[in-house]
Amino acid sequence: MSANRTSLLLKHYLKKLKLPTILREYESIAMVCQKDNGDYATFLLRLIERESLDREKRAAERRVKTARFPLIKTLDTFEFAAQPTINEKYVRELMVGEYMDKKENILLVGNSGTGKTHLATALGFAGCMQGRKVRFFTVKALITQLLEMTEQRLLGRTLKQLERQDLLILDELGYVPFTKTAAELLFEVISRAYERLSLIVTTNLPFEQWVEIFGCERLTGALLDRLTHRVHIIEANGPSYRLKESKKRLKRLGCEHQKAPEPVEDQVSPQTD
Ligand code: ADP
Ligand code: MG
Repeated sequence: MSANRTSLLLKHYLKKLKLPTILREYESIAMVCQKDNGDYATFLLRLIERESLDREKRAAERRVKTARFPLIKTLDTFEFAAQPTINEKYVRELMVGEYMDKKENILLVGNSGTGKTHLATALGFAGCMQGRKVRFFTVKALITQLLEMTEQRLLGRTLKQLERQDLLILDELGYVPFTKTAAELLFEVISRAYERLSLIVTTNLPFEQWVEIFGCERLTGALLDRLTHRVHIIEANGPSYRLKESKKRLKRLGCEHQKAPEPVEDQVSPQTD
């Protein structure tokens, strides 16, 4: 067979079998193998390795996209020194992801600007890299979606989709009080998740105040019972990183005499994170 025809057929089959990395790289890998006097099996191994690595990378990228993080944050950019109440070793252990095998939950509790969303996203991102299905919601957005789905009679389907995740992140619980329907919907999500998948919840509210936003003592009790049965609690009660950064910025600009603005969500609306 002529070299031209071989190459044409090879490209055709590689496309058909969906092996884009081999298609892109077989010629250069062949040259390297030839130079190294590699045998056919080594050549084949190198091709398959490259394809497999690329496939894993593409799948991880898809999982990150599907998770819908508001911003990608990882531990690399988290300064533990700025938040001494957070135990770095504990967080790093959680990053390994074993809590998801055990269907355990993580609760990040603390004031605004203390890195709760950052850590929740970093944990979720690590989960995606480990092959887990992750979905990030602010509590407000989740409730809006669930209410819409109820109207369209698609609630059951949506709840099933949520159940199929390995990790659900519910960000900003407690900024807005719920209506009775919203509280019940959130309860439904949390009880379906119980022992089926892991939840990460971030909140500025200590447990004693949860009843105020859920509006019903019995429902709050049942919800806390499920959420905290197997839970890792991370408390971030240090200074607001946001506030500290804006103070530094003002100082750099020579505006020390001006008061740094309070974090926006404390001042105006809790939904401006
Ligand atoms: P919270 O969710 O607790 O209100 P965020 O996680 O949104 O706080 O943090 C606010 C901003 O400050 C984000 O840009 C986040 O990346 C950054 N941040 C917070 N804490 C830290 C930290 N310890 N190290 C680095 N960046 C931080
Ligand atoms: Mg936040």
